[in-house]
Formats: sequence, structure tokens, C-alpha cells
Amino acid sequence: MKFKVYTIFPELFPGFLGYSLTGKALAEGIWSFEAVNIRDYALDRHASVDDTPCGGGAGMVMRADVLGRALAANHKGGALLAMSPKGRPLTQQKVHELSKEDEIGVVCGRFEGIDERVLEAYDIEEISIGDYVLTGGEQAAQVMFDAIIRLLPGVLGNALSAESESFENGLLEYPQYTRPVEWQGRRVPEVLLGGHHRKIADWRKEQALRITAERRPDLLKKYLDSKRV
Ligand code: SAH
Repeated sequence: MKFKVYTIFPELFPGFLGYSLTGKALAEGIWSFEAVNIRDYALDRHASVDDTPCGGGAGMVMRADVLGRALAANHKGGALLAMSPKGRPLTQQKVHELSKEDEIGVVCGRFEGIDERVLEAYDIEEISIGDYVLTGGEQAAQVMFDAIIRLLPGVLGNALSAESESFENGLLEYPQYTRPVEWQGRRVPEVLLGGHHRKIADWRKEQALRITAERRPDLLKKYLDSKRV
């Protein structure tokens, strides 16, 4: 997997992806990245990448001509995305789809966002990591990369550990416990200590349903609808 990132802050990469499991996978060559500095494609004396919005309003917009040149020189086909709060929400299902690609290009916005014409011209899919606004696409891109990288073969020690996680089966994950068995008067639920696999699986399923009902009724509804035939 190769990520080609278009950014005005190339020094932000690999950022936190250089640590822990993702850092080890980077060192092992399971994934790689190239940060293209959009500013290298600015032609004026001040190397400006942004300008005021047409029609007025606050802030600055990333220029189509500068970003367009960066893409023309570096994009050689494959998936091309842009991080944006007005994009389609990133889901675990989308993460799975993206993890099958060989190379993914990602444009990181700054300021008020990107001139719409570049998005159209390059058929760029906008992706949001949630209903809130960040200062830049770099943070969002790294969150998305992290979710993709952990699905690449060889990254997670135990391939099974990904399967029972939140969202993987349409539900949030059940509560987890480890030793000590008793802590400040609280015991690990008895069923988890009994070694009865069937009972443990039933308990976990029950808990996953309870937590999903409490916290994400929207997910529970989708889950129940999918079970109905
Ligand atoms: N004016 C824009 C917000 C710009 S925020 C709007 O109202 O839609 C600046 C940049 O941060 C964006 O271009 C995008 O790349 C990134 N960003 C902010 N919030 C994001 C989110 N929730 N998901 C993905 N990218 C985000």
C-alpha cells in the first residue's frame, strides 16, 4: 500500500503513524508514503497556494491552478480522495474497500477548503472522518491511513482480533477485561473466568447488543434490519 499525500505541510508525515504497529509496518515496507508539497507547484514570488473566496466570505481557499499542477505532475491513476467535512463519512466498510487498493492519493485541505473545480476535474472523492471541523486534512488523512494500515496483512499480530471489533459485525464491541481478577472490589464477570466458550460468546453478544442499543441506536437498527429476511 502506498499513500501519496498532497499537502502544504509534508513534515507532518508520517506523524503518529511512525509509532507502534503502524510504525513497525512502515519499517517493514508493508506500507509507504510520499508527501507531495503543493507549495512546490506555486509559481508566484510568494509561493501562494490560496486566495480569497469568490463571492466573498471568511478565510482563504486553496487555488485550483496550484493544486492542479501538483496533481498533473504526480497523480498516475488509482484512487484519489480529499479529506473534507462535507465528504461521505468514513466507515469501517469503506476502510476495508480502501485497504484493497495498491496506491491511494489523498489531498489534504487547509483554510476554508479546496476550489471545487479541481475536485471535479480529477473526479476526487471527498471523505469525512466525522461531523466536526478540524484545521487541516493532514490529521484526518492520518486517522484514515491508520484505519487502513491495521487491516493490511501482517500488521495486526492476531488476524482474529480485528474480526470481533466495533463495527466489524455491525455492533459495538463488548467490554474487555484482563488480570488482576479483582481490582478495588470489582471482579471480572464470572462467565469470562469459567472457560466455557459457548457461554462466553453468548455473554459477549448480549453485551454488544446492550452497548449498541444504549450508545448507537442507529447502528442497532441497521443491524436488526440486516438480520430480518
Ligand atoms: N470550510 C470547510 C471546512 C474547512 S476545514 C467546511 O465548512 O466544510 C479545513 C480542512 O480540514 C478541510 O479542507 C479538510 O481537508 C480538513 N477537515 C476538517 N474537518 C474534517 C473532517 N471532519 N473530515 C475530514 N477532513 C476534515
